[in-house]
Parts: sequence; C-alpha cells; structure tokens
Amino acid sequence: MAMLAVDLDPDFTETERAAWETAHRFARDVMRPAGEALDKLPASEVIARDSILWDVFRQHRELGLGLDAADGDPDLSLAEQARIRCFVGEELGWGDTGLAISLGVAGFPTMMARMSGNPALIERFPAGTLGCWAITEPGHGSDLINFDGTLSHPGGHDERPNCIARLDGNQFVITGQKSAWVSNGTIADAAALFCSVDMGDGRVGGGVFVVPLNEGGVSKGKPTDKIGQRALNQGEIFFNDLKVPADSLVVPPEGYRAAADRVLCLANASMGTTFVGCARAAFELATDYAKTRVQGGVAIFAHQSMKARLFKMYQKVEAARALNHRVVRINTGRETPLLELAIASKVTSTQAAFEVASDALQVFGGAGISRDCPIEKIFRDARISMIEDGCNEVLGMVAAARF
Ligand SMILES: Cc1cc2nc3c(=O)[nH]c(=O)nc-3n(C[C@H](O)[C@H](O)[C@H](O)COP(=O)(O)OP(=O)(O)OC[C@H]3O[C@@H](n4cnc5c(N)ncnc54)[C@H](O)[C@@H]3O)c2cc1C
Repeated sequence: MAMLAVDLDPDFTETERAAWETAHRFARDVMRPAGEALDKLPASEVIARDSILWDVFRQHRELGLGLDAADGDPDLSLAEQARIRCFVGEELGWGDTGLAISLGVAGFPTMMARMSGNPALIERFPAGTLGCWAITEPGHGSDLINFDGTLSHPGGHDERPNCIARLDGNQFVITGQKSAWVSNGTIADAAALFCSVDMGDGRVGGGVFVVPLNEGGVSKGKPTDKIGQRALNQGEIFFNDLKVPADSLVVPPEGYRAAADRVLCLANASMGTTFVGCARAAFELATDYAKTRVQGGVAIFAHQSMKARLFKMYQKVEAARALNHRVVRINTGRETPLLELAIASKVTSTQAAFEVASDALQVFGGAGISRDCPIEKIFRDARISMIEDGCNEVLGMVAAARF
C-alpha cells in the first residue's frame, strides 16, 4: 500500500528514515498491542503499578521519541525537524492515539521550564518528568480558549475561575481545581498549569506555572472512565493551598495570551499529526479486510462501490497529511506561529479520522462491532478527538476571528 509519507516524500533524508523506522517499530510492536490491552481495562487498572503502561513510557524515553526529539538539533534544518516531527508523530498516532497523547503531553512541564530559561526551574523539572497540561476547569472548557472574546455572547459574563494563584511574599499560593479531562491528570508528577493569577499589585489575569504535583498541597481525583483513548489517563487535580516559589510563574498575565496561543498551536498541530496516523490505521485495516472478506464468491474489494469507498478514505488521509506537513513546516521555528493554521490541521485530521474510522467500521460489517476487532476501538478513539484540545466548532470560530 503506497501510503507512507516517508516513502513518498522526495526530500526525505537517511536521518529521517531512521527516526521513522524507530517510531514505526515502537508503534507496531509496543504501542498497538499495549493500547489494545489497556483499552479493555477499567481506568484504575490502566495506571496500576504493574500496568504495561509504564513499560510503554520507559521504552519511549529510551528510544528518545519525545515531542522535542528533533527540535533545536543544530545538525538538522528546520524543514528536517518539521518532517521528523510529522513522521514520528504519525506513527505514534497509528500505534495508539491515547498513548500518543499521554506520551506527548508528559513533556509539557519540562518544555515550559526550558522556555523560561531559568536554570533552577530546568533543574527542578528535568527531561523524563511525567507531566501534564492543566488548563481546563470544571466551569471553564471552551471559555479558556476565548482569548479575544470571539466566543462571548451578548449578555454573557465571565464566571469565577476555579483555580487561582495568589502572590504572597516570595511565593505563590495556589487554590482550586482543574477538570476531570486533564490528560495524565492522576499520574503526573508535575503540571504546566494555566490558571488565574493575582499578582497583588493590581495585575490579575491568566498565568502559566510549572509546579510539582507530588510534594503535598495537591490531591487527585479518580481516573476518568470514558468511551475512547482509554489508555490515556485523565483526571482532576485539586490544589489545596499549594505553595510554590515565585519563579514557578513562567508567564505573567501580560504574556499569557501569546503563551496560550503558542501552546495551543503546538498542541493542535500535534493533534493534526496524531490523527493522520489514526485515520491511516483505520484505512489500512479496512483495505486489508476488504481484500480477504469473501461474499458471493469474490473478495468484497472486487466491488466497484467498495473501491470507491476506500478511495474516499484514502483521499482524506492524504489530504489531512498534506495539510499537517504544511502547517508544521510553516510554524516550526517561527517567532509567532499561526494558530489558525494549527487549528485547520487539528480539525481536518480529527474529522478525517472519525469519518475514515466510521467508514472502516462499515467495511468490516458485523465483524467491526466486536470488541475483539481493532476497528471499533479506533472509531471510539477518533470520536473524542473532536472534543480534545478544544471542540472543533469552537476552534473554528477562534481561527476565523483571525481572518
Ligand atoms: C481526550 C481529551 C483529552 C483532553 N486533555 C486535556 C488536557 O490534557 N488538559 C486540559 O486541561 N484539558 C484537556 N481536555 C479538555 C478539553 O480541552 C475540553 O473538553 C474542551 O476544551 C471542551 O471543553 P468542555 O468539555 O468544558 O466543553 P464546553 O466548553 O462546555 O462545550 C460544550 C459544547 O458547547 C459548545 N460551545 C461552547 N462554547 C460555545 C460557543 N461560544 N459557541 C458555540 N458553541 C459553544 C462546544 O462546542 C461543545 O459542543 C481534554 C479533553 C478530551 C476529550
């Protein structure tokens, strides 16, 4: 099946092929089977001490496949860094989307600490720290990406934040909670925490902190039970007057909008990459099945309408991938990445993954609805991606406000 970008792209280098091969082997031999096994467990067992989840994390770390694996490498051009990010991310999404998200978001606190340039903070949150991105609150989902009031309704008003950090001398005191949707929420040792901040000098607004979650002053909810991406742990985080040094604030209110924009850009582009992989996985499974399932004495692939359906699926995978590569290439190394492009990729890929997975399930017929068939899991995984990292319709409005 001539589907892999690494085979089709005339510009790919040996370094890129090596990165792709490592990622593909890991996705095929480790992530795919682990994702299928974890999907069948209750949320509490996914994160049990003896869970296969920890082996996935260990191998991912040892292989150096992290989000920033190729970033800033002086031996690689920006174009190469972008392509490696796309090739590797697509494979991880092809392996298992829930695990891909879990592995990706784990690096957020370290990334934010590095962005601060503060050596003390970088030392406190070294590479390998299991982290999360805590932004959504019980009372604030879409509200938190309403950066410029685009989503506001006449007569609407801001509700009280659920999580606030107050400056008290040389430390911040953090009180409140983040929602049950925080990825890695109940297993993370650290958070890139986006919350309200009161600087005590009249400056009040959003702020970004890097905080420990394993040193007291923090408690966690129970792991969220959900329909898809079940290998991805999610859950609430409660801050019970957590005290952190003042340098834990890496973005003050005046820089919040730009920082939130950048992080959403990164997250949405990564979602775009991950769900190209998801769509491809569904397309491949359906094509293989159509070639082996016989009805009326011929493989169902022999029917013209089946080929037409498979072509539409193929078209969506290729289109989502082409857009994602363009978006990642344009935004890599750019001082101000373009959020509308990242959103276009996220919305396109997740919509494509859902539609392709739905069509794939139809190709499988009755066999597709069995819990023993991989396609129903991919369908469930793809469905929730249209809510993850912002509901697609809301993201569309945020993007359009920049036109
Ligand atoms: C798998 C998954 C992983 C996630 N990971 C994380 C994570 O790591 N960290 C984190 O902090 N959060 C995470 N989230 C939370 C996610 O970002 C939110 O669920 C999302 O932003 C939507 O917020 P909400 O669920 O509160 O929905 P709401 O904002 O309540 O939206 C409900 C519905 O109302 C619609 N709506 C809302 N406002 C408007 C408007 N102005 N105009 C029209 N329609 C509107 C929405 O489109 C949606 O259909 C994750 C969610 C999922 C599903």
